[in-house]
Amino acid sequence: MDCIFCKIIAGKIPGEFVHQDSEIVAFRDNHPVAPTHILIVPRKHIPSLAEFNDDESPLMAHMVSVANRLARQEGVAEKGYRLVVNSGVDGGQLVPHLHLHLIGGRKLSHGLG
Ligand code: 5GP
Ligand code: ZN
Repeated sequence: MDCIFCKIIAGKIPGEFVHQDSEIVAFRDNHPVAPTHILIVPRKHIPSLAEFNDDESPLMAHMVSVANRLARQEGVAEKGYRLVVNSGVDGGQLVPHLHLHLIGGRKLSHGLG
């Protein structure tokens, strides 16, 4: 198991968890780009969005629900926030374990790339 997020999920390297349930975990990004930067990560090692199966869509719905709840907890829900999934090399994905970025707490630029 060489995946950094699998290691964080397994407790082999530390993570600052803000949510854990049977399907997903959420922890703070260690290089935050905004005051709130949380990664919502399925426990299952899915390498990327491109390898996400249609029958797993309830998992993505759950990830978004938890992200929304965390946005409220972080106090960014009202002013706004961004959910991002990077997929593959051109998509800017660095860690090959599917994750949703929750970013907020400052005015983000409109640019997408
Ligand atoms: P990606 O580019 O794959 O969408 O994003 C990967 C994110 O994981 C980056 O924002 C990066 O800062 C974060 N990250 C990489 N390694 C670690 C780590 O060991 N711990 C934590 N908490 N975040 C990490
Ligand atoms: Zn993994």
